[in-house]
Amino acid sequence: MSAEKKEENHQASEKNDVLKSTQTVIHLALDKLGYPEEVYELLKEPVRMLTVKIPVRMDDGKVKVFTGYRAQHNDAVGPTKGGIRFHPNVTEKEVKALSIWMSLKCGIVDLPYGGGKGGIICDPRDMSFRELERLSRGYVRAISQIVGPSKDIPAPDVFTNSQIMAWMMDEYSRIDEYNSPGFITGKPLVLGGSHGRETATAKGVTICIHEAAKKKGINIQGARVVVQGFGNAGSFLAKFMHDAGAKVIGISDAYGGLHDEDGLDIDYLLDRRDSFGTVTKLFNNTITNQELLELDCDILVPAAIENQITEKNAHNIRASIVVEAANGPTTLDATKILTERGILLVPDVLASSGGVTVSYFEWVQNNQGYYWTEEEVEEKLEKILVNSFNNVYDTSQTRRVDMRLAAYMVGVRKMAEACRFRGWI
Ligand code: NAD
Repeated sequence: MSAEKKEENHQASEKNDVLKSTQTVIHLALDKLGYPEEVYELLKEPVRMLTVKIPVRMDDGKVKVFTGYRAQHNDAVGPTKGGIRFHPNVTEKEVKALSIWMSLKCGIVDLPYGGGKGGIICDPRDMSFRELERLSRGYVRAISQIVGPSKDIPAPDVFTNSQIMAWMMDEYSRIDEYNSPGFITGKPLVLGGSHGRETATAKGVTICIHEAAKKKGINIQGARVVVQGFGNAGSFLAKFMHDAGAKVIGISDAYGGLHDEDGLDIDYLLDRRDSFGTVTKLFNNTITNQELLELDCDILVPAAIENQITEKNAHNIRASIVVEAANGPTTLDATKILTERGILLVPDVLASSGGVTVSYFEWVQNNQGYYWTEEEVEEKLEKILVNSFNNVYDTSQTRRVDMRLAAYMVGVRKMAEACRFRGWI
């Protein structure tokens, strides 16, 4: 590779560095709100970051040592809250950025939490059920001193699920010598999980789409929707949009995309997708993910991975509304281009906050020992997200800033105020 090309790649990866871009927007938001530099110094990194080594006896009798992290971004508002990711590409930097995002999400939907995040470098697809159990329990033992129902409350994230949450809750309860359902959310219903948790993220995205469509004068009935990613978030979202009368004309997974102007048969695709959100392998007539993003449609929902809409393709996006179900799918340069082109961008920290909101409901139900019906959960979620969307939208209009910066301003203000009242700054 030429030195020039290397430098170009380095610059591109610096630009697309999620921690750096999050810090850039936080800095801008604090400036806009008039906070002094020391507030940024406090909020630009987690206040606490624990790295742990977890020895696990594998099925072949050998011991393998895994590395895990837990980041607590800021606990001025209340205990920290955020998922645990099991993935081979987990890094300290990513966990830090994700913990900051959780703080912002909690601020935007006005929950009494700060943000946290955890991760273990591992590939659960190569591990047996019992190896996963030993790893999950080992992680909880390693981080037990800094977590707890009123300190830091974990939840599921990429490649972790309700079974893993159940093992973790059981391990913590043994250490604590007390049944502690409020230690973790995303549990199975029989162990104090909440109705509506599994579909909460997609429900939240759906609510944001409805609100954004109202602002743009788009009727959901017959609106053309494209969804990138057909996993937990994308597949449920496609189903909710289809059920609401929209025409889902494009979906994709890691292997490619499907496109049909008359609308895809979402129920059929849901039935055929595997547990990793893969379905396009069953078809011959596929398009690429890049082609999918540039389809002519009303609403585009990136629900897969980060850095999908960049300065390279932002000029070719033909949707009127882009709603980020995934974390970080649009770079800052692309955000600017889309906003200048009059496309309404609903940022990740707002659009994907349905999951943490219902996690909060789960924790509240655990603390009070009284459980709500699915209808009650949905009603409460709708109220919170409609208010939050409109709060961010109004901020963007009155302060003349894009929706991402507006969301960060709303998200960071509560944290900064809590730090100020506590006398930290
Ligand atoms: P998932 O693993 O269930 O599904 C991911 C989907 O993206 C799959 O269909 C996969 O095939 C596809 N994909 C992977 N690599 C791709 C690529 N290079 N190009 C196109 N598609 C690709 O994950 P999920 O839980 O649905 O999460 C998706 C995104 O939403 C992530 O960014 C996640 O952080 C975010 N998110 C999810 C939740 C949640 O509750 N599930 C909550 C908040 C944010």
